[in-house]
Amino acid sequence: MGDPFDFGARPDAYAVMGNPIGHSRSPQIHAAFARQTGQRIEYTAIQVDPGGFEQAVGNFFANGGKGLNVTVPFKQEAWKLVREHGPEAERAGAVNTLLQDSPGHLIGRNTDGIGLVRDILQNHRGNIEGRRLLLVGAGGAARGVLQPLLAEKPQRLVIANRSPDRAIELAHDFADLGEVRGGGFTDIGNESFDLIINASAASLHGEVPPLPEHCLAEGGWCYDMMYGAEPTPFVRWGLEHGAGVSLDGLGMLVEQAAESFYLWRGVRPRTGPVIERLRA
Ligand code: NDP
Repeated sequence: MGDPFDFGARPDAYAVMGNPIGHSRSPQIHAAFARQTGQRIEYTAIQVDPGGFEQAVGNFFANGGKGLNVTVPFKQEAWKLVREHGPEAERAGAVNTLLQDSPGHLIGRNTDGIGLVRDILQNHRGNIEGRRLLLVGAGGAARGVLQPLLAEKPQRLVIANRSPDRAIELAHDFADLGEVRGGGFTDIGNESFDLIINASAASLHGEVPPLPEHCLAEGGWCYDMMYGAEPTPFVRWGLEHGAGVSLDGLGMLVEQAAESFYLWRGVRPRTGPVIERLRA
């Protein structure tokens, strides 16, 4: 960890790697955290070509880089690259944060799930314990948030996905951590849920997953991991279906970044002002 008062030295280097990466808000978020906490860091966005991830990571750390975030499509590759994973990353099979604790020794962490749970519980004073949860999607994002969600002890968690087999497999992989079941959208039947989390990429295509009309309990919450300047299609779906609260994933994005920042620097930034600034 660098000395924040050593003004002569080059700032410690961090970056996010992905493809595409031009849209990433991570440099802005980490710059805000650094200003707020007085940490001297530089944080850049690096576009990496398919097939070039391992080399890019090697070069980054060989040139003195201190830590990396990893985003689409390299999270699974990052997991395979490191031998040591944080407990939350082990099962996720995906890593969004790389730390170097000694030269050549990288540790892989996944802060996405912690970010989601903090946004719901702390920023919005929501509840997960004892609630009925529906997780939509069975890709990397869904896998990454399952353990932190189940740690909050929901009454039960149903995973629904366009390809039912992937949801069934995911539920099977986490079955020892709680009451989890997977299937397709039609398998949801007449059940209703207190919290529906959209971890599918449907919003990216301007679509809403084909959920049964009455699957949101009265006053239940909707959470779309996607975010944007306008309400996402799923946020709108929630409002149209009587959600008490319908949120997008900007808070999750800032919270996962804060957890990465904390892992790297040992200092926890305040997230509220940063979320507000990004919304403005
Ligand atoms: P993946 O490509 O790994 O998985 C995509 C998932 O979405 C699959 O389950 C896929 O179903 C499903 N899907 C894709 N298109 C549709 C559609 N039109 N209708 C219904 N389901 C669909 O992506 P990720 O899991 O990495 O990311 C998912 C979302 O989460 C993205 O929108 C991403 O931006 C967001 N995200 C947000 C974060 C944040 O900090 N806010 C952090 C991480 C992710 P199938 O299995 O059938 O292909």
